Amino acid sequence: MDVLKRVPIKEQNPDERIHNFDEVCLGYTKDEAVLEAGRCIQCKNPRCVQGCPVSIDIPGFINAVVREDIEEAYRIINKYSALPAICGRVCPQETQCEKNCIRGIKGEPVSIGKLERFVADWARENNIKPKAPEKKNGIKVAIIGSGPAGLTCAKEMAERGYDVTVFEALHEPGGVLVYGIPEFRLPKETVVKPEIENLKELGVKIETNVIVGKSVTIDELMDEEGFKAVFIGTGAGLPKFMGIPGENANGVFSANEYLTRSNLMKAFDSNYDTPIITGKRVAVVGGGNVAMDAARTARRLGAEVMIVYRRSEAELPARVEEVHHAKEEGIQFYLLTNPKEILVDDNGWVRGMRCVRMELGEPDSSGRRRPVEVEGSDFDLEVDTVIMAIGTSPNPLIISTTNGLQSNKHGCIVADEATGKTSREGIFAGGDAVTGAATVILAMGAGKAAAAAMDEYLQNK
Ligand code: FAD
Ligand code: SF4
Repeated sequence: MDVLKRVPIKEQNPDERIHNFDEVCLGYTKDEAVLEAGRCIQCKNPRCVQGCPVSIDIPGFINAVVREDIEEAYRIINKYSALPAICGRVCPQETQCEKNCIRGIKGEPVSIGKLERFVADWARENNIKPKAPEKKNGIKVAIIGSGPAGLTCAKEMAERGYDVTVFEALHEPGGVLVYGIPEFRLPKETVVKPEIENLKELGVKIETNVIVGKSVTIDELMDEEGFKAVFIGTGAGLPKFMGIPGENANGVFSANEYLTRSNLMKAFDSNYDTPIITGKRVAVVGGGNVAMDAARTARRLGAEVMIVYRRSEAELPARVEEVHHAKEEGIQFYLLTNPKEILVDDNGWVRGMRCVRMELGEPDSSGRRRPVEVEGSDFDLEVDTVIMAIGTSPNPLIISTTNGLQSNKHGCIVADEATGKTSREGIFAGGDAVTGAATVILAMGAGKAAAAAMDEYLQNK
């Protein structure tokens, strides 16, 4: 074996997978995982851990894999992460732990994410569960939203002995993990649901179909229902649009709606009757993970798909793996291209999209080079469906119905980044509700940090 190279991972063949919603990556077998784990040189000062937002003891769990003690590997990861099977699949390891891995200097970094996934899958298949706390303290805390931020906060508080209730607006818990990220990257029944079930083993109660701010307010939860502290992890589910002509036409979707119909409402499955317009030629506007997910979903629903992104390939914010998979699946990339207008037919349906070519100018406030229109370079793309994946912001409902909370100009809740403390005592916030949009692991890190601060607050109360 060449120790400079990773043990390759098996994937579904692109020609087959564009016709199904099964998972693309097939994961390591135990033998493969042990072989890959053997590439870790157990650094004394492990830089991989510094790159992990929740500081998982990476050499510790990898060492347990080498010793073939997978249960121990699971217990080590579970100390730091409530959602290892999910993180092992969707975390951007290439810009975090794996980017820092010392093995990456001369060869390929250790496949930390794929090993985490293997360990979590093995634990699930072997019915290994986290251990419930021995003592409960009877203090009630409420978590609003069941995405990665809320679920992590719930785990941390339950492990400290609190009586935790999660309130979720949708009929399924999981946030973006169930309504946003598609099956072919993150299976719901076999991966997401069992990780959420593990939290219930810790005593966490989850109440779905409760829109806090409508069904009940945070003030009512605290003043009338006895919750002594609240964590807000309501994410950023409000889609943004470009404000160009034609955006109200039939056949224009936000990526959120498109993905929710497909993932949560199972529009791709003929056993469900949720309607979705599949489109024959679909343009997806944007270059992040959300855009790749929408594009790859449309491809599987049978469309010819184009990504339209105003910067160049180097600036694509999506994970490298997602871009690679999208290309393998035949998705065309119109880079340095920006939509100007959606062309509409006499019946109000999309018939095309007028675009303009862009070039990169000086860096803007994000540090990325600003795209500038190339004069006279307009051209029309023939499409019948347009999916906007250009970002989201938090829903204003919580802010507008809770006394004493502040929001910033982006509509995000103002909270201390390190502790989640908001302007109101006893209320903490984190994840996309505070940042607008981040990643699963950053949302988890925020949930974890807020739990520590919440615990300190309740102990001193
Ligand atoms: P969310 O996951 O959005 O969860 C918030 C929850 O709160 C939702 O369930 C919502 O229904 C609920 N809620 C909202 N308002 C209320 C209310 N008033 N009352 C009760 N409940 C409420 N990140 C990665 O790291 N890797 C990826 O590959 C990746 N891909 C992505 C793909 C898509 C399509 C999307 C949309 C995002 C992706 N992300 C990815 C980003 C990541 O999923 C988010 O950063 C993360 O889910 C944020 O977690 P959260 O807990 O803050 O919010
Ligand atoms: Fe192992 Fe890489 Fe972490 Fe070193 S940096 S401990 S080699 S995973």
